Amino acid sequence: VRVVQKIVREKRADLEAWELGLRAAVHAGGARVLEKLLHGVGAGRSKEPVLCDCGRRMESQGLRKKEVLTVLGRVVFRRSLYTCPACGASRYPGDEALDIVGTTRSPGVRRLMAMVGGQSTFQEAAGQLKKLAGILVSLKDVERVAEGIGEDAEKWAAREREVLRRAGQPLGMEKSIPVLYVCADGTGVPMTGKELKGRKGKQVDGSAKTREAKLGCVFTQTTTDKEGYAVRDPESTSYVGSIETAEVFGDRLFAESVRRGLWKAKRVVVIGDGAEWIRNLAEMHFPFATVIVDLYHAREHVTDLCKALFPNDQKQSAAWRRRWWKDLDEGRVEKIIRQAQARQPRCKEVAAVVRAEIGYLEKNKSRMRYAEYRQDGLFVGSGVLEAGCKTIVGQRLKNSGMRWTVRGANAIISLRCMLKSRRMDDYWESRLAA
Ligand SMILES: [Zn+2]
Repeated sequence: VRVVQKIVREKRADLEAWELGLRAAVHAGGARVLEKLLHGVGAGRSKEPVLCDCGRRMESQGLRKKEVLTVLGRVVFRRSLYTCPACGASRYPGDEALDIVGTTRSPGVRRLMAMVGGQSTFQEAAGQLKKLAGILVSLKDVERVAEGIGEDAEKWAAREREVLRRAGQPLGMEKSIPVLYVCADGTGVPMTGKELKGRKGKQVDGSAKTREAKLGCVFTQTTTDKEGYAVRDPESTSYVGSIETAEVFGDRLFAESVRRGLWKAKRVVVIGDGAEWIRNLAEMHFPFATVIVDLYHAREHVTDLCKALFPNDQKQSAAWRRRWWKDLDEGRVEKIIRQAQARQPRCKEVAAVVRAEIGYLEKNKSRMRYAEYRQDGLFVGSGVLEAGCKTIVGQRLKNSGMRWTVRGANAIISLRCMLKSRRMDDYWESRLAA
């Protein structure tokens, strides 16, 4: 009421000041109503006995006060403390009922913190929460809550994977998905010094600055556009990722593909950059799939090959690149290999680069039949890998100056995968059901 009176007294119209002032007033009023609603929750004598983990009946020690930050602001909450006469453990049934055990942040505030903290730096997230929702939290606060939810979401996802793994392949599944794509990729996450001790890397002195996060996405395709290019089903992409071994990641990506309908797919396509671990993963988990080396990675290798073959002649290098890119598009990898082999340079170092690039083409040629893939109306890579997998890490974990621990990075990667896969609601509901 005071805010309204103050607003009415002011002569000059200032909508922004009025709306923000009113929002704060409405929030403050709402917080008082909320306090009244909470009154009595987990307080007084409970009908059911409160039991300890050790099995003994716990005894009430009277009310204890706790301040909880909600989306309406701070509220005071009084609830009974129970302790165990045998082992001394304590419980707050009121906190359990409200989902605020061990935290002074309400579920509503925590979900917002995770959502914003998964999208922006923790510093920016704290600023956005203040501006957008009038919620005052610190950078550290956002970090703790966002990472906590990321870790918990990973446990939830791991349980789900275990169920999928145990279920195995169902029989007589109707094939209702025309094409299901599985993509895998790796990208470096900048790490703190401690996490990198003793690890070899690409730095000049042989040390490492990053560790590889493995990322994957699964999406489906039903149609092609007028020109015959593949079209991704809208909202069909889901993501997984972690800093972990290729073996563990393989199980993760396989489970995700099963969740997304692997057994219902008429055709399965695996797209990667030609890396060995992705080839192995595809062989192990998707032996029935069409495996494709991302066209843009293949092109990059051809470009590097041309640069190595014509180090002092940019014109020649560009001319061959154009020619071989066209060959690549039309599925003539063998021709590229043949023509490159006929041109072995004398310099030993250059010859080694050329050999390595030819080796890459040789090893992957059966996965570079781009003309065929196009004829079948399939994706041949690029956007799928770059815009798909890499945004999970690139847009959030690689900002300048960032240094992560494996634990922190994995928590935020799993949080981001859940958000980008539009699964936050599923996860949140599963927590309440548990
Ligand atoms: Zn006990």
